[in-house]
Amino acid sequence: MGGERDRSPLADYDRKRDFTRTGEPRGTARRGRGGRRRAPVFVVQHHVARREHYDVRLEVDGVLKSWAVPKGPSTDPRDKRLAVPTEDHPLDYADFEGSIPAGEYGGGTVLLWDTGTYTNTTSKNGRDLTMAEGIEHGHISFRLDGEKLRGGYALNRFRHGAEEAWLLVKEKDADARRRPTSSRPESVRTGRRLPEIAEAEGRTLKGRPLDGGR
Ligand code: MN
Repeated sequence: MGGERDRSPLADYDRKRDFTRTGEPRGTARRGRGGRRRAPVFVVQHHVARREHYDVRLEVDGVLKSWAVPKGPSTDPRDKRLAVPTEDHPLDYADFEGSIPAGEYGGGTVLLWDTGTYTNTTSKNGRDLTMAEGIEHGHISFRLDGEKLRGGYALNRFRHGAEEAWLLVKEKDADARRRPTSSRPESVRTGRRLPEIAEAEGRTLKGRPLDGGR
């Protein structure tokens, strides 16, 4: 009762960040770019922060739904990768690559590891579900069309509550491979590796200032 929320879906995203300090985009929810219907985007960002992980983000209803995947997505259907949900990110975040100052939320280095579009293939009892419905039910499946990641993937929730956790699994299809994520570390956008991205902004991998005095 009285629990109606009129706050932006990106309020958590904005609250965690000081935009005078970080170069990350502000949280502005948008319904598509330019109004014409187009395939939704996905992005995977390799993020060296307090803990190293990959952020898997899928465009759903004007924001990027996000999961932190410590080991990164696998191309091998035998791997089950822990995926911990994080706050919704703005669509503009799909273009972000750079350094976040140490001490700020997520301080460290972000590399655009893969991006592209995806197709929702989620269904339940023979009925197609929207991504939002699938997330609510704790199961989504989708086909990725990226540079490094292709084919079917599924995300399944296995734990609820404060410790909510999902598993990211490659589906068995023609795109299944046994090739480690680490075999292609470079940015899909700029070809750079993590240390080059950090150095370009005068910081270490963990976002501390480089000692330029010597
Ligand atoms: Mn992250």
